[in-house]
Amino acid sequence: MTSKTRPESVAAQAGGHIEPASGALIPPIFPATTFERGGDLSYTRGYSYTRAANPTDVSAAETLTALEQGAETLLFGSGMAAATTVFLALEPGAHVVVPQVMYWALRSWLGGFATQWGLRVAFVDMGDLAAVREAVRPGETRLVWVETPANPLWSLTDIAAVAEIAHLAGAVLAVDSTIATPVLSQPVALGADIVMHSATKYLNGHSDVLAGSLTAARTDPLWETIRSVRMQNGGVLAPFESWLLQRGLRTLFPRVLWQSASALVLAERLSAHPRVEAVLYPGLPGFPGHELARRQMRGGFGGMLSVRVKGGGEAAIAAAARVRLWKRATSLGGVESLVEHRVSVEGPSSPVPADLLRLSVGVEAVEDLWDDLSGAI
Ligand code: PLP
Repeated sequence: MTSKTRPESVAAQAGGHIEPASGALIPPIFPATTFERGGDLSYTRGYSYTRAANPTDVSAAETLTALEQGAETLLFGSGMAAATTVFLALEPGAHVVVPQVMYWALRSWLGGFATQWGLRVAFVDMGDLAAVREAVRPGETRLVWVETPANPLWSLTDIAAVAEIAHLAGAVLAVDSTIATPVLSQPVALGADIVMHSATKYLNGHSDVLAGSLTAARTDPLWETIRSVRMQNGGVLAPFESWLLQRGLRTLFPRVLWQSASALVLAERLSAHPRVEAVLYPGLPGFPGHELARRQMRGGFGGMLSVRVKGGGEAAIAAAARVRLWKRATSLGGVESLVEHRVSVEGPSSPVPADLLRLSVGVEAVEDLWDDLSGAI
């Protein structure tokens, strides 16, 4: 691979490494937790203990670093472990600006644990740049957190504009790019300092690994603190899961492009369905973030959409009860299509309307997905 090798090729060959001892195209799994010291007690081969680093997790992390065009990636035992590590690496009392619409468990952690722990958390509408400017305090705000498209209303945030606001104030910008994936969006190129993924979703893509990642645009003192919090708290990704994640990354591009194409077809058809109140999807021209999505995403608008069913919450739940091919389950980004009534999951404090069903489009035949869903609704 050269610096000009395209990301599709980097992903397909997981960086193109050949195992030196055997010539194997597929890397081995190193289950070792501990590594040999030299006679002078130093670790000449760079590995000491798997909570710090393991060759299998480093191999998967390097593939992701290349896809994100970053400097270094750290893998975690879940997306939440990755995300919370960024906040825990800040000094107590730090001021952070986060979105009102975001993955609900992180929102709940920020309003609960993080606030009790001493972070000063400001929730803002990230689509409103004037509101972001007002919320960010120069010299005081340490971190701005963005999720785009944001789960589960799929609102868009202008990464480049928010990066500028954050940097002018001396803050760092972190982007949860789980939904966009490195296939559709390049947060580092747009000015983000840290890119986060729930690798449980598209990066692995097969609903069989719980994992998270952070990629740094550059290694700086905050990144070193993040690295030591990860190592000390121990929320690392085990070797077998790291190996599975790297296997999943090889098919990231065809999966995400296929899923995005199917999601667009379904979004267009659902918009004309007589029992549908509204379709939330960045690829639809009428969607508020559509123009920004066209500028900021490439190759598609992602595999996630939400549909508001006429007749309210009960009608939405009844529609979800009728699907056969779609599976009623939480999570997203796998090869199988999932439907979920989000308010039932998020509870009464959720900003999500009761009539909303969240759809994660898999890689099944789009006509089968349409037949099943349109009939159920
Ligand atoms: N960020 C987003 C956008 C998510 O959808 C999720 C999980 O659904 C997470 C973060 C948390 O990831 P995990 O479940 O791997 O901890």
